[in-house]
Amino acid sequence: MNNILVLGAGYTGMMAATGIARRTTAAAVTLLNPTAVFNERLRQHQAAVGQDLGAHSIPDLVAPAGVRFVQGRAARIDADARRVPLDDGRELAYDLLVYAVGSATPATPHAFTVDDPAFAEALRANADGVLTVCGAGLTGIEAAAEAAETYPGLKVRLLSRGAPGTMMGPKARAYLTAALDRLGVEVRTGTAVARVLPGAVELEGGERLPTDVTLWTTGVAYSRLAADAGIAVDPDGRVATDAALRSTSHPEVFAIGDAAAIRQAYGTVHGTCQSGIPSAAHTAESVVRLLRGKAPRPFRFGYVHQPVSLGRKDAVIQFTRPDDTPGRWYLTGRAAVAYKEAVSSSPLKFYRARTAIPARMTGRTGGRRNPVPAR
Ligand SMILES: Cc1cc2nc3c(=O)[nH]c(=O)nc-3n(C[C@H](O)[C@H](O)[C@H](O)COP(=O)(O)OP(=O)(O)OC[C@H]3O[C@@H](n4cnc5c(N)ncnc54)[C@H](O)[C@@H]3O)c2cc1C
Repeated sequence: MNNILVLGAGYTGMMAATGIARRTTAAAVTLLNPTAVFNERLRQHQAAVGQDLGAHSIPDLVAPAGVRFVQGRAARIDADARRVPLDDGRELAYDLLVYAVGSATPATPHAFTVDDPAFAEALRANADGVLTVCGAGLTGIEAAAEAAETYPGLKVRLLSRGAPGTMMGPKARAYLTAALDRLGVEVRTGTAVARVLPGAVELEGGERLPTDVTLWTTGVAYSRLAADAGIAVDPDGRVATDAALRSTSHPEVFAIGDAAAIRQAYGTVHGTCQSGIPSAAHTAESVVRLLRGKAPRPFRFGYVHQPVSLGRKDAVIQFTRPDDTPGRWYLTGRAAVAYKEAVSSSPLKFYRARTAIPARMTGRTGGRRNPVPAR
C-alpha cells in the first residue's frame, strides 16, 4: 500500500510528491519525469521568446522532502499488474499511482508551439519579420505581447475567432485590447485558420497571410497512457475522477492537474495551475488518509482569477467568481505585474517549504456556490 508512484513532475506532480513525502514517512514516494529540469509552464511564453529563466533541478527540489526522482518516460501503464514500463526497458511498480502527466498544445505542420525550443531561435532569426500567432487564448495573448515587447522590429499579428479576453469583464478586456495595441500587436478577429503553409497562413475563405514565423496556441492534447491502460477517461482523454479525485474505474489511481477530468458543481474544471496545485495538495492529504485507514475527502475548488501578462512591464488580472465568470474587480499595470509574478513564483516556494502546505491554503473551495457534485 505504501509504494507511491507519481507520473509527471509538472506543477501538480511536484506538489503531490513532495506533499505526500512531507506528510508521512510510511510511504516510499517515487517521481517520474522525462527531464531532470523543471518546466515552468507558467512562464512558457517568456522562455518561448528566448528569455533565460534559469534552470531548476527537479532532484534538488524534491530530495529534501525524501522523494526519489527517476528520470524517464512512462511507455504505458499495466493497471492489472500495477506496474509502469518505461520506454528504456526499466519498470516501476506501485501500490498507489498519482497520474499527473499534464497536457500539451497539439503540433501543427509549419507552425511552432510555445513548448518548442526552436521557436526562440526562429524569432531571433526573423526579428524584423512577421510573426503570426494563431489563437488568442491566454497563451496566444501572452506570447504575442512578449514577442512584440522583446522584438520591437517584429510585426506581430494575432488571429482569433472572437475578441481576445472574451472570458474577462468589459473593463479588463478593454485594458487588454489597449495594451496589445500599444505594443503594436495587430489583432484580427473573426478569423478561422484553415491551414498553415510554409511562409503563409491560409484562412477559411482562402485568404493567405504571408508570415515568417507562425505560432500555434490553440487546442489541447492529452496523453493516451490512461486510455490505453483501460483506465476510464472522458471524451478528451482526461482521467475520469470521483469526488475524491480517484479514477472511477481504478481506485488505486488518483488523477490531478490538466490530465484529470475534475467535476465540480459548475462543470468540469479546465486545466490551470490555479486548480492543479489544490488538486495535488488535496491528493497528498488523501493518500496519507488512505495510508492511515481513513477515507479520502471530496475535493472542492473555486476559481479566483484570470492572470494575463502583457510583456514584462504590464499585466491584467481579472478576479472571478468560483465558476470562473468575471467578478467586479480587476488589477492592471505594475500592481498586476507584481501579482502575476507572485502567482508564477509560488509553486517553487511550495516545493521548497520545510513542511507540507495544507490543501486548504492552496485554493478556494467556492463555498456554498460550489457544493460537492452528485456522483
Ligand atoms: C504560456 C502558459 C501560461 C500559463 N499561465 C497560467 C497562469 O497564469 N495560471 C494558471 O493557473 N495556469 C496557467 N497555465 C496553465 C498551467 O501551466 C497548466 O495548467 C499546468 O502546467 C498543469 O500542470 P500539470 O502538472 O497538470 O501538467 P504539466 O505542467 O503539463 O506537467 C506534466 C509533466 O508530466 C510529464 N510527462 C508527460 N508524459 C509523461 C510520461 N509518459 N512519463 C513521465 N512523465 C510524463 C511532462 O514532461 C511534464 O513534466 C499556463 C500555461 C501556459 C502554456
